Amino acid sequence: MRVAVIGAGVIGLACAHELVLSGHAVTVFDAHPAQGATHAAAGMLSPAGEAWYGEDELLRLGLASAALWPDIATGLTARSGIDVDYRNTGTLLVGKDRDDLAVVQRTIDLLTAHGIEAEQLGREELLAHEPTLNSRIAGGAILHHDHNVNPRKAAESLMAALGERLIRVNARPDVVNGVCRGVITDDGKVHRSDVVIAATGHRLDDMIPGPQRVVRPVRGETIRARTDDPPRRTIRASVQGRPVYVVPRAGGEVVIGATSEEHAGDPMPTVGGVLRLLDDARTLLPTLDTAEILDITCRFRPGTPDNGPVIGPSLTPGLLVAGGHYRGGVLLAPITALAIRAYVEHGDVPEAARPFQPNRFGTFNADIRSNL
Ligand SMILES: Cc1cc2nc3c(=O)[nH]c(=O)nc-3n(C[C@H](O)[C@H](O)[C@H](O)COP(=O)(O)OP(=O)(O)OC[C@H]3O[C@@H](n4cnc5c(N)ncnc54)[C@H](O)[C@@H]3O)c2cc1C
Repeated sequence: MRVAVIGAGVIGLACAHELVLSGHAVTVFDAHPAQGATHAAAGMLSPAGEAWYGEDELLRLGLASAALWPDIATGLTARSGIDVDYRNTGTLLVGKDRDDLAVVQRTIDLLTAHGIEAEQLGREELLAHEPTLNSRIAGGAILHHDHNVNPRKAAESLMAALGERLIRVNARPDVVNGVCRGVITDDGKVHRSDVVIAATGHRLDDMIPGPQRVVRPVRGETIRARTDDPPRRTIRASVQGRPVYVVPRAGGEVVIGATSEEHAGDPMPTVGGVLRLLDDARTLLPTLDTAEILDITCRFRPGTPDNGPVIGPSLTPGLLVAGGHYRGGVLLAPITALAIRAYVEHGDVPEAARPFQPNRFGTFNADIRSNL
């Protein structure tokens, strides 16, 4: 098949790469590849840490995708020579005070109800796992199966693997008589294809003919810093009721995140947001006091009404969508790519991905066979 992918964030790139490996002729269009939410993401592969009440299908999707990451990371590094810094060292959940510990306990209870291991730890045990933690923390847990990867490196590696298939120009679907025939790029050129995949993050609705609004921008900030004393594994904490995380990377780098605000307009970092993140992170890990700040990034997460992604056929024949991955696009990229390949090839869509067809919002057509 000739496949055009619009959008080169982690989702579009992962879908394109999967389709290339499967033998399709793929072209990806994006004037600013990997500069959207992918650039801000901390890279936590954290289905358990992100689990929430009523989001059982999303938890299953996350677990299925997390299981794909080790092979993806190995393959990407081998093919591109770029180390994507995949770490399977687990995640610590930390409560700063007793009320924060109640937040951690709620997550443990939820995970236990789903049969997911969450090992409860007292203060001393936590400090033994992570000596850089503030000695006054109340307690927490370890999630042995929540890992992390460097999303910027993963995107760089995917782009290297795609090579000249990635064209640095924006595009939109070329819809003629209600059927998608390919894409029109911003320089006016028409590129014919058998299938178009729209993967434009929080701008997904722009790609779909019609008035529907499914994906909304949710602003988030992350800070990158370098320290001589980084934590050994990802730490997700509640500090006086405020969520904060610190994710370690190669070379002493850490990612501190993240704010979350329903927001349109420009994605600009704010003094209040950055100050709060730094303050809470330093409370958690006092050694961060002397860390050097490398960058501050603000981008839009692509949110949906039920916090789940939209993966599958749109109402327009020939146009598939892969978007709305909200807080978990890095985690969910591998399973999204498998599902999109299955929709393109009329193959078996992974069971965990089936509940996330766009038609659950009532504006899309579920029958892929009539769509291609
Ligand atoms: C602060 C923050 C922290 C996060 N942390 C994590 C985390 O730890 N773990 C995790 O799994 N997820 C995390 N996320 C979420 C994750 O970043 C997103 O879910 C993911 O990046 C979505 O990927 P995407 O490819 O759909 O969108 P994006 O990465 O936004 O990419 C969309 C791409 O589409 C392009 N585009 C837009 N319009 C057009 C057009 N007309 N033509 C061509 N291209 C176009 C853009 O240039 C962009 O490159 C975080 C997000 C934020 C903001």
